[in-house]
Amino acid sequence: MRAMILDAPGRPLREIEMPVPEPGPEQVLIKVHTCGLCRTDLHIVDGELKEPALPLIPGHQIVGTVVAAGERAGQFAAGDRVGVPWLGSTCNHCRYCLSGRENLCDKARFTGYQINGGYAEYTVADYRFCFPIPEGYPDLQAAPLLCAGLIGYRSLMMTGEAGHLGIYGFGAAAHIVAQVARYQGRKVYAFTRPGDVEAQRFARDMGAVWAGDCREAPPEELDAAIIFAPDGALLPAALRATAKGGVVVCGGIHMSDIPTFPYEILWGERVVRSVANLTRRDGEEFLAIAPKIPVHTEVRPFPLSAANEALDALRGGKISGAAVLVVDG
Ligand SMILES: [Zn+2]
Ligand SMILES: [Zn+2]
Repeated sequence: MRAMILDAPGRPLREIEMPVPEPGPEQVLIKVHTCGLCRTDLHIVDGELKEPALPLIPGHQIVGTVVAAGERAGQFAAGDRVGVPWLGSTCNHCRYCLSGRENLCDKARFTGYQINGGYAEYTVADYRFCFPIPEGYPDLQAAPLLCAGLIGYRSLMMTGEAGHLGIYGFGAAAHIVAQVARYQGRKVYAFTRPGDVEAQRFARDMGAVWAGDCREAPPEELDAAIIFAPDGALLPAALRATAKGGVVVCGGIHMSDIPTFPYEILWGERVVRSVANLTRRDGEEFLAIAPKIPVHTEVRPFPLSAANEALDALRGGKISGAAVLVVDG
């Protein structure tokens, strides 16, 4: 099969031919149709996340068809369309796994990070961590649901009943969250890089009632904010824009250092929290609600062999919505 592999952080991915992997007893072998790109892929490729299993096939928003199943992977059969998310396995017996917080498992392993992912024609995955893909979503549009959608949904749930919701960084996750938030009757305020009028127009198209520069004050005090951009300086900005008692959720896996800020902008029972990974329950909930809204994903397709160009476009903020590799197109 063809695959794009990372030999070492900071180097471009390299296209290779390699054997199709064999599924283990609890794994399914999947023919990959599409694989979404995620900012986390950039953090891995650029070396900001320190524990990739090298050489690595990145990619953790995989949509494909099961072609073979291991002897104990009974839930899925050949021909089933499945999605593979970031959470690839957990220990199943630690304090986190036993309390509904498997996203925090210390032994968790992640797709496209410690487990080979979807920048390839085939992949294997533990069937217990795969999701059926809702009917009606083409492969291309389904891919971004699997991380941008899931992590976005988990981040949104952490904002409680917030009616005025700020979103900092309007990429793949934000464009999905905005649609869910609007469906729930919330008002979305989108904050972009200063002067990025293209992203601001896109945010308004996706239902934001206001879109502006990340250093601007919104027209209404926010009840909560979600930060998807990996810029630590946005945290004090978001706290200043958020009303007393509100929460600021950091939705990314990596962020630059947060500058010091005066206690008074946290005072008033404001809360700062992060969101880490996903649970399988998040996936089941989100994939059930997405077709009802229905969430529509804006995607820009790239062929598998153009993975480096796609990563560059994402790094440069040149993607409206989500970049997706089309593997079998
Ligand atoms: Zn565990
Ligand atoms: Zn991701």
